[in-house]
Amino acid sequence: MRSTRPTTTQTTCDCEDCPSFTITGHYRRTTEQADRHHQQAAVDGWADVELRDYCPGCPPALPVEEHDHAGLWVA
Ligand SMILES: [Zn+2]
Repeated sequence: MRSTRPTTTQTTCDCEDCPSFTITGHYRRTTEQADRHHQQAAVDGWADVELRDYCPGCPPALPVEEHDHAGLWVA
């Protein structure tokens, strides 16, 4: 799930019960900065499938039982 606020762009894993997220802060958000956030998330291993986002520990190709729910940004 993606959420954009005036000073941050955040991507949260859409896998059930997974706490992983990645967030980028901005002084002032622009569309360009949000795009850069999503590009960086993709480089870091996040997957975007049918408008749902999955962290690197939750490859959407694997059954949910095999996910380790361990993104790089577990809180
Ligand atoms: Zn996850």
